[in-house]
Amino acid sequence: MAKRASIGLDLGGTNFSVAWLDESGALRDTLTLETQSHRPASAIVADLASAIQTTAQKARQEGYTVVGSGIGVPAVIDPWAGLVLLPPNFAEGWHHYPLAATLTQATQIPTWLINDARSFTFAESRMGAGKGYRHLLGITLGTGVGGGLILNGQLYLGRWGTAGEFGHQVYDPHGPRCGCGGFGCIEVFASGPAIVAAAARHLRQGRTPLLREIIQGSLDDLSPKAVAQAAQAGEEECIEIYRRVGRALGIGISNVLSVLGLEAVVIGGGVAQAGNLLFEPIWQTLEQHQYMVREHLSTLQIKPAQLNEPGVMGAAVYAAEQYAAEQYAAEQYAAEQSQQIIQSANPRANTV
Ligand SMILES: [Zn+2]
Repeated sequence: MAKRASIGLDLGGTNFSVAWLDESGALRDTLTLETQSHRPASAIVADLASAIQTTAQKARQEGYTVVGSGIGVPAVIDPWAGLVLLPPNFAEGWHHYPLAATLTQATQIPTWLINDARSFTFAESRMGAGKGYRHLLGITLGTGVGGGLILNGQLYLGRWGTAGEFGHQVYDPHGPRCGCGGFGCIEVFASGPAIVAAAARHLRQGRTPLLREIIQGSLDDLSPKAVAQAAQAGEEECIEIYRRVGRALGIGISNVLSVLGLEAVVIGGGVAQAGNLLFEPIWQTLEQHQYMVREHLSTLQIKPAQLNEPGVMGAAVYAAEQYAAEQYAAEQYAAEQSQQIIQSANPRANTV
């Protein structure tokens, strides 16, 4: 039997990356290009299709059959209809865009969509820090706060294909407005922009001399990483910023723990690189506020993500598993059909 490859594509607001997954589970020939998200959807999709075809060609040259491609999208999607419903940071033309069907037609490779944070969670669960856990929460900390759930070993997408939105749990109903339209979501307190905004307030008031030195006075260089550096060097205001982020995440994790029961939490994305600055207040919050399953807290694992390209990896593994599931369903259907034909040809075949 021919070797099987699947393609993973991680679509971001700035760049997109595409690679193919070989039989050993390694990503090959990663290609990263600019998204130029100000362009209309049709122009961006044409670039995605051509990058997928280039990548598929490389896999075929190595003797592989390409069985599908998965597209990780930073958007609310309908994974079953293959629609992009609401992309946050893209120009016009994406509302209810049939991305899966368009790419399937353009590339002649079956294509599936997956939300980017779900893709991260799926990759870490299959190949990374979440491997071996049956009940897992994935959290991505970056421009937004994304999430994903693995329940009973399977990616859980819920009734509408949208389950896992960790960052849009309400943390403070009187808090600031969130990008989703609600108020006081965890994302408002724990995203990269939230960290930068809090640090900028301290800078303007002259309370963070170490941070000012790190960014050499330039607000353009203010980033979650710079705030983490200042905190690690002992700047109390910056430590407190990460403490607040950790508290919001800790409450969110505690809620999920009470509702679903978890073995592990994997946290990734740029902001997660702050390490213990973040992980310590998360644990303190859990110890303070989690009562329902308190006796199980000591068995909970909270781990930093492991993979280099979880978005691409998750999308590729998702496509491979979707292909396998469809093959299995088709075989089951064929077996049932042939059984019915045998029975109608010989009605006594099944009598005892
Ligand atoms: Zn929200």
